[in-house]
Amino acid sequence: MIFETIGHTGHEQVVFCHNKDSGLKAIIAIHNTVLGPALGGLRMWPYATEQDALNDVLRLSRGMTFKAAVAGLNLGGGKAVIIGDPNKDKSEALFRSFGRFVSSLNGRYITAEDVGIDVNDMEFVLKETDYVTGVHQVHGGSGDPSPFTAYGTMQGLLASLNVKFGNEEVGKYSYAVQGVGHVGMEYVKLLREHGAKVFVTDINKEAVQRCVDDYGCEAVGLDEIYDCDVDVYSPCALGGTVNEKTLPRIKAKIICGAANNQLATDEIGVEVEKRGLLYAPDYAVNAGGLMNVSIEFDGYNRERAMRMMRGIYYNLGKIFHIAKRDGIPTFKAADRMAEERIHAIGKIKLPHMGNAAPRFLGRSRGQ
Ligand code: NAD
Repeated sequence: MIFETIGHTGHEQVVFCHNKDSGLKAIIAIHNTVLGPALGGLRMWPYATEQDALNDVLRLSRGMTFKAAVAGLNLGGGKAVIIGDPNKDKSEALFRSFGRFVSSLNGRYITAEDVGIDVNDMEFVLKETDYVTGVHQVHGGSGDPSPFTAYGTMQGLLASLNVKFGNEEVGKYSYAVQGVGHVGMEYVKLLREHGAKVFVTDINKEAVQRCVDDYGCEAVGLDEIYDCDVDVYSPCALGGTVNEKTLPRIKAKIICGAANNQLATDEIGVEVEKRGLLYAPDYAVNAGGLMNVSIEFDGYNRERAMRMMRGIYYNLGKIFHIAKRDGIPTFKAADRMAEERIHAIGKIKLPHMGNAAPRFLGRSRGQ
């Protein structure tokens, strides 16, 4: 059954990790390592069934392959999940046990933070393996990726404005930003620096008030955000917000934001295109966080990170070009760009050569 599934998804390796004493039940999924070691976050979640955990890790790891490929990184796609409740099941032994499994893969999989995991958990993982990113700055890590993701989202926006309106004058246009958390707040700040008209919403009322008081945004209700008469809709909260109920209400000409999995279905993606909206594919736009951690391998450097974010502008340009070239929606063009790159780079590698192992320079595992 499992081989039938991974035969379909194209995974290279799925590792079931168990340690009775620490209570560890984890799955590491390595989807594709043609471009480099599989990097992807570790998620901790009280999955209702083991099958749910497996489905999640397979889906997420495959997504990472595409994201890294489009971002132009020498990384493959992987992900890991720990089955457990992050509010009660965490322990040093649990994360060190997980770290030992990561170590046993000798760099084929590199882990990072994801839902339910924080930087303190990663410190325990780091005690057992070098193959961890997103650790605290004191260990040579890159810290909070959100400002980079926001800056990357701006780059995606510039490319989108260019193709849709023929200019990149951010301040000339109006925006509906859904979710002003870590990324959304930074993004709003950047938009306002350009003098743009910005509408915001969030379930966190304090965050909304900050946008109004500190940045001069206009607050709207949670559901009203879809009806805003704006040029750009920027989902920066949850996934699936572009769906059959919301799409007819969205007046924007561009959808560009940081949230993952914005399109509820592929059919909606096709419909977005039919309605003449330009969709900036989410995983290309929000790759800033991934790019940022990828720099940790060679010793983290903020300037290099910012320069890399600028690449998102060019990546979006390539995606829009492929969409036009092949007459396909932009979300499909992003996948095609990833596949083309994996195929082309895969061909230049001789079978016995494998990938260069990441070096992790300038990092310490100390206390
Ligand atoms: P966050 O949790 O800090 O912010 C999300 C915000 O959305 C919160 O303020 C929350 O209150 C709000 N929210 C939740 N439900 C909402 C709703 N129904 N309507 C309006 N607001 C709602 O998360 P974040 O780190 O800012 O990430 C935002 C999105 O970007 C997520 O989808 C995340 O997966 C994606 N993303 C983030 C990064 C990163 O670097 N942080 C990188 C890539 C992708």
